[in-house]
Amino acid sequence: MACISTALIVGGSIAGMNAAIALAQQGVTVDVVELSHEALGASLAFSGRAAMALVELGIYDEVYATGRPDLPGNTAVSIRSAATGEILNPGPARPTWPGAVPGVGVFRPTFLAVAQAHAERLGVRIRKGVTYETIEEDADGVTVTFTDGETGRYDLLVGAEGIRSKLREKVFPDAPAPKFAGQLSIRWMVPGEPVPDEGWYASPAGRLGFYYLPGAGTYVPSVINIPEPRWYSQDEVRAIFTGLLDTMQAPAIRELRARLTDSSELIGRQFEWILLEDRWYKGRILLIGDAAHATSAHMGMGGGMALEDAVVLGQEIGGAATLPEALAQFMERRYERVKLVVETSVRLGQLEQERAPHSENVALLTKAFSKLGTPY
Ligand SMILES: Cc1cc2nc3c(=O)[nH]c(=O)nc-3n(C[C@H](O)[C@H](O)[C@H](O)COP(=O)(O)OP(=O)(O)OC[C@H]3O[C@@H](n4cnc5c(N)ncnc54)[C@H](O)[C@@H]3O)c2cc1C
Repeated sequence: MACISTALIVGGSIAGMNAAIALAQQGVTVDVVELSHEALGASLAFSGRAAMALVELGIYDEVYATGRPDLPGNTAVSIRSAATGEILNPGPARPTWPGAVPGVGVFRPTFLAVAQAHAERLGVRIRKGVTYETIEEDADGVTVTFTDGETGRYDLLVGAEGIRSKLREKVFPDAPAPKFAGQLSIRWMVPGEPVPDEGWYASPAGRLGFYYLPGAGTYVPSVINIPEPRWYSQDEVRAIFTGLLDTMQAPAIRELRARLTDSSELIGRQFEWILLEDRWYKGRILLIGDAAHATSAHMGMGGGMALEDAVVLGQEIGGAATLPEALAQFMERRYERVKLVVETSVRLGQLEQERAPHSENVALLTKAFSKLGTPY
C-alpha cells in the first residue's frame, strides 16, 4: 500500500503527467493542474531506460504505434557530410541490454495526449488553465488554493513546472537561476513527404539534423553557437536558420531549404541548464523533471530523465513505509543519474563550442550512455 493517499501535481507535461500515472498506479488519488490549454513543441526521442519507463507507465505500445519506432541508434544519429550527404560516422550507440525495448521518437503533442488519456483512465483529475494561488504546509499535509476558486488538501505536492519553475523559487529561494549554455537551438516541423538521408550535418555555422515523424512531418533540430544570452526575434531566428542551411550543399539540406517559406514556424530557444544540489524536496513538496534538473538537448535525455523521475517516485511511494523515507529513497536513486546527464550535456556543448575533435564527443557520450544503461 502507498505511504500517501493524495497528491497534487503542478505542471502536466512530461514529468507531471507521467508522475500522475505512476502515483495513480499505486492507488494514490491525484489532481493535476496545468497552466497551458494546448501542448506545444516538436519531437521527443526516448531511448534506453527512458523507453523502459514508458513500459512501466503502461504507454509504451501506444507511443510506439503513434511515433517513429527504432529511432535512436539508427540512421538518425549518423553524422553526414554537409557537402555530399554521405555517412561519415554512424554515431555512438545508445544504451542497450538483454530485454531492452527499442527507442522511439514521438511528436510531443501526441505524446502528451497519450499520457493524459492514460492518466484519465487511471482516475487522475486534470484541470487545464489552472494553477495554485497559495500553498500552506503543516505537519499533516499541504493546503492549496487554486486560481479556479477551489481548495485542496494533499499529502504530497509535486512541482513539475519546467525550467522556469516558480515553486523552485518559493521552496528553494537560494537555488541558482538557470545558466546559459552558449548555444541557440532552432527547431522546425517540416510538412510533406519524408526527406531521405536522415542524420546530422555540420558546418562552421552550426549543425542540424532531421528525421521523419509519421503523421507530423520531418523534425529538424539545429544548434548554433551564440556569444551571449539574449532575446532573438522571429526574423533573427529565421535569418540564422536560413544562413545555416545555406552553408550546406548536401541534397537533403537543399531539399529542406526549398521547403522553408516565410510562414514556416521556427522555434528558437537558448540552451540553459540547472541542477538542484542535494535534495529536491522540502517537507511535503518535491520538484521533479526540468524544475529540478534541466539541461541542453545534446544527449536528448531531459524528457527521459523526467520519465524516470516519475516511475521511481511511484515505486518509492508504493514501497516505503513513510513519505520521508520514500522521498529520501527517491533522491538516492535519482541524483547521480541525473547529474551525469546534466553535466555530460553541458560538457558536450562546451566541446562543440571549443571545436574539439568529434572523437572527444563520442568518447564522452559512449561512457555516459553505458552508465545510463544500468537500471534506474
Ligand atoms: C531543443 C530541445 C530538444 C529536446 N529533445 C529531447 C528529446 O529528444 N528527448 C528527451 O527526452 N528530452 C528532450 N528535451 C528535453 C525535454 O524537452 C525536457 O527535459 C522536458 O520537457 C522536461 O519536462 P517537464 O515536464 O519537466 O517540463 P516541461 O516540459 O517544461 O513542462 C512544464 C509544464 O508545467 C506547466 N507549468 C509551468 N508553471 C506552471 C504553474 N505554475 N502551474 C501549472 N502549470 C505550470 C507548463 O505549462 C508546462 O506544461 C529537449 C529539450 C530541448 C530544449
